Amino acid sequence: MDLLTGPVWPQIRYKGRGSGGTDLGSMTHLRRISPVVFAALALALPGAALAAPSPNELAANTNYTQAERPMDAIRFIVIHVTEGGFGGTVAWLRDPRAHASANFVVGRDGHVQELVPLHDIAWHAGNWAVNTRSIGIENVGFTDDPSGFTGPEYRAAAKIAAVVARRSLIPIDRQHIIGHSQVPDPDDPLQGGGIDRHTDPGTYWHWGYFMKLVQRFAYPQKWWRAKHVGLDIQSSTVYGGQVVAGHVPWRTKVGGPVRRVSFLVDGKVRWVDHLAPFAFAGGKPLNTTTLRNGKHRLELRAYGSKAWTRRVFTIRVRNEPFTLAQVAFKPRQQVSGVVPVRAIFTGTPVRVQLLLDGREIDHDTSAPYLFKWDTRRAKDGPHTIALTGRAPDGRLVRSAVTVVVNNAAVLPKIVGSSIANGVTVSDVEHWLVQVSGKVDEVEFSVDGVVRGTATAAPYAWDWDTTAETPGPHQLLIRAVGPNGTAAAQQSLSVTVAGPAAAG
Ligand SMILES: [Zn+2]
Repeated sequence: MDLLTGPVWPQIRYKGRGSGGTDLGSMTHLRRISPVVFAALALALPGAALAAPSPNELAANTNYTQAERPMDAIRFIVIHVTEGGFGGTVAWLRDPRAHASANFVVGRDGHVQELVPLHDIAWHAGNWAVNTRSIGIENVGFTDDPSGFTGPEYRAAAKIAAVVARRSLIPIDRQHIIGHSQVPDPDDPLQGGGIDRHTDPGTYWHWGYFMKLVQRFAYPQKWWRAKHVGLDIQSSTVYGGQVVAGHVPWRTKVGGPVRRVSFLVDGKVRWVDHLAPFAFAGGKPLNTTTLRNGKHRLELRAYGSKAWTRRVFTIRVRNEPFTLAQVAFKPRQQVSGVVPVRAIFTGTPVRVQLLLDGREIDHDTSAPYLFKWDTRRAKDGPHTIALTGRAPDGRLVRSAVTVVVNNAAVLPKIVGSSIANGVTVSDVEHWLVQVSGKVDEVEFSVDGVVRGTATAAPYAWDWDTTAETPGPHQLLIRAVGPNGTAAAQQSLSVTVAGPAAAG
């Protein structure tokens, strides 16, 4: 869900709109009625089950926002529940008073109504940043109704999701195909369900079943045979053409007298399993975040006692970007006092740490990731200051730099005083104080009362001791640093001479 709180699209209207649907292969922009996807959907959905929107039947700017989103601008598919019947829902979402819409409404018989073309932005998630990057599918039913949803309904919604996921290269996982309840409330990102805190599709929506259908419709599984060697790689949970992200389980089913199975990524053996059911990394998923985005060659090799067979296929890794900008200090930069340290990310971390010499000194879980580092708690000298961020999918990014803490040079310090401890003073004393470090002002106190202040060097105050009672007095010098963050002080005991002595 943290994936969703990224930057809003810088603009709604996309330039370079495609010229049309003549060249399906190179077409990256959708036309008004999204003919490519519409054609794919028409193929995926039987007969007359799909009704296309007629232009302008839904009022733009009251129910949705016209845009020229390219297909790969769509990064999420949001599943909703209508809380009403098919006809009523379609009529309401066409009504300007609704101020809401969805790209599709799916009926309980599998009938689909498209309301907003994919390239336009439907108002469905209660979160503008999510709306701009998603499509919404409304499924007829009630969130809290245990009777749930129908088979034809799941299948029709899954076909839409499959076609959109393939076209937009959205990984088929629960980080990208989400429920309305997973959409962050823009005012309080820790709460789900968008600004109105919706709970759909709820517990009666069978995600496991639905995701399996989407996977099957998007990437029909090929079953492989290698009869000539008696070994038979029958299936693999990861296979050709898939778009994957995050952590992906990789298991394979092999028939015949198999002794071991090797799992290869880009030509390198990454795991060997000797025992069925054969699984990558002992059942731990393949971590695609360690692979660069783009195409990768995966291979399964099944070895028997005398022969072996293999399957090679290409997957496409597409993880959302997650980077951390370099800590904004120059190497060996001198720092002192309290300094701000800001972590700037592409993507949204779930946890950010500030580390000093490898140890956490502060952490944060929400933006802005701005720390106040009190360097006075560290010894003067070189230190490594580091920021780390963890993505929702477990990726870790780190940025570190060595700086030199130098508070001694800047902390206020009293170096000398023209009136020394224990002396006898008389007449007008020119009381001069020497300081070092960054000093805003020096205060001169007599018997606990500030009597003079100097704000610039030379820090001095003329003390007319003839106005004081003869005898012992307590003096105090205070040197105060910028903004009162630090101060140094020194006490002195002196004796004011009587008039006779002065005479
Ligand atoms: Zn909803």
